[in-house]
Amino acid sequence: MTDVCAVSLDPIVYLNGELVPLSEARVPVLDRGFIFGDGIYEVAPLYARESGRTAFRFPQHLARLARSVGKIGIANPFDDAGWRELIDRVVAANEADGGLPADQDAIAYIQVTRGVAKRGHAFPAGIRPTVFVMVTPLHLPDAAQRAQGVRCVSAEDRRWLNCDIKSVSLLGNVLMAQFAAENDAFETIQFRDGMLTEGSSSNVWMVKDGVLSAPPRSHKILEGIRYGLIEELTAGCGIRFEAREISEAELRAADEIIVSSATKEVLPVTLLDGQPVGDGKPGAVFAALYAAYQRAKDKEAQVAQHAQQGVENESRERLTV
Ligand code: PMP
Repeated sequence: MTDVCAVSLDPIVYLNGELVPLSEARVPVLDRGFIFGDGIYEVAPLYARESGRTAFRFPQHLARLARSVGKIGIANPFDDAGWRELIDRVVAANEADGGLPADQDAIAYIQVTRGVAKRGHAFPAGIRPTVFVMVTPLHLPDAAQRAQGVRCVSAEDRRWLNCDIKSVSLLGNVLMAQFAAENDAFETIQFRDGMLTEGSSSNVWMVKDGVLSAPPRSHKILEGIRYGLIEELTAGCGIRFEAREISEAELRAADEIIVSSATKEVLPVTLLDGQPVGDGKPGAVFAALYAAYQRAKDKEAQVAQHAQQGVENESRERLTV
């Protein structure tokens, strides 16, 4: 377990071609991310293993990043290899300055805005996107939260209808997170016109009679990287999964509710608006998914280690020929 004091409060970040301490990173006030929220972001976990750090489900995160920039007409500043190299550089810089201990799970935060231009709503021609990357410690929910489950509140989803874009325009989500905080809740679960959409920063899953359901992929939710992952995990666990519209009444009568995100992995919700979910305890489907999630992490770490060994063996062979 890493001593929190060993974790840097001023990590080295990447901003537009340079590695600088976070406290020194600056963007002009005319950056359209600041003026209009005109940008997108991505958040990917980097799990610490003895064999090194593994970026979990990274191809999927990079594909979502490419979709997000594509949907708002920004040219992707890097290809997948370029993004990987950049994250590796930021990780290496933070490891080297002692700010990111090798056994510390981390989170890569990537933000791309349209760039800096004279203020005007429509896209300006010929500007360069602003690229920001930050790698900070990831603190996963603790065992007590998993054992007891978390309490959630609910509210009407009043966000725009492009929730599939991982936009930095997060005011709707911010207000929902604040609503949860003010009500001593972990997360706000949202409904639009009586149907479940998602949490302020998570996807929401329902279990009824052993069947796992979630709202279908659409512009009304962000397709979490855990969405596809959980779909895959259900197959391996023999759990039936249905992507379908879920009414508020159905969710309130669920046997289990689960939330998922990069920073929460999967977490059981045991209280919704003060009412117990099912029997008020984390359920069997949550337990199966949590275990399967941990196995998926181990498997990806092993695959990454083998790939790395392969590269090392190959270069050793090349040297000895
Ligand atoms: N929906 C919203 C609104 C979110 O902010 C998040 C977290 N980024 C998710 C869903 C879950 O996405 P992921 O599994 O990729 O973290």
